Amino acid sequence: MDTLTWMDVALQKADDSLKIGEVPVGCLFVYDNKVIAIGNNTVNETRNATRHAEINCIDQVLKFCKEKDLNYKNVFPNIDVIVTVEPCIMCTSALYQLQVRNIVYGCANDRFGGCISVFEVPKLYNSETKVIGGVKGDVAMALLKEFYKGTNPNAPESKVKKDRKSTKCSSTESV
Ligand SMILES: [Zn+2]
Repeated sequence: MDTLTWMDVALQKADDSLKIGEVPVGCLFVYDNKVIAIGNNTVNETRNATRHAEINCIDQVLKFCKEKDLNYKNVFPNIDVIVTVEPCIMCTSALYQLQVRNIVYGCANDRFGGCISVFEVPKLYNSETKVIGGVKGDVAMALLKEFYKGTNPNAPESKVKKDRKSTKCSSTESV
């Protein structure tokens, strides 16, 4: 399958995520032309602000490596990450530390993006990882807009913010 087809699969996962009240981000990790991890954000479900789609996929790959008796250090450098939204700073950093081969994303993440939009994590690493953005980004952005316009009861819109005692922790909105 080619990148555009993989992105369609990731977008479908993002759409599933939207339906269950999570930020609509879908992610695939492709290894040896097979999907070995597929995930979406589970921040609301787990009440854990770090459970982004990419982190969930990383856990699946580690499990895959254990089952297949493979060294993850040899597997990650052959993985292509397909994700509907530019990874945030945390996730970009994690993917660079694991030295994935490619990061292919859809729309830019103007609020938390770690590939280029908010901060350029790649500059911190001497890495062969390549980043390709803008793949079907309009479709990914339409899903995000639908989420943030507040039609979803779990969407972190203004009401949620006002109810919080502290405004410091707005990370449930990050992707
Ligand atoms: Zn992230």
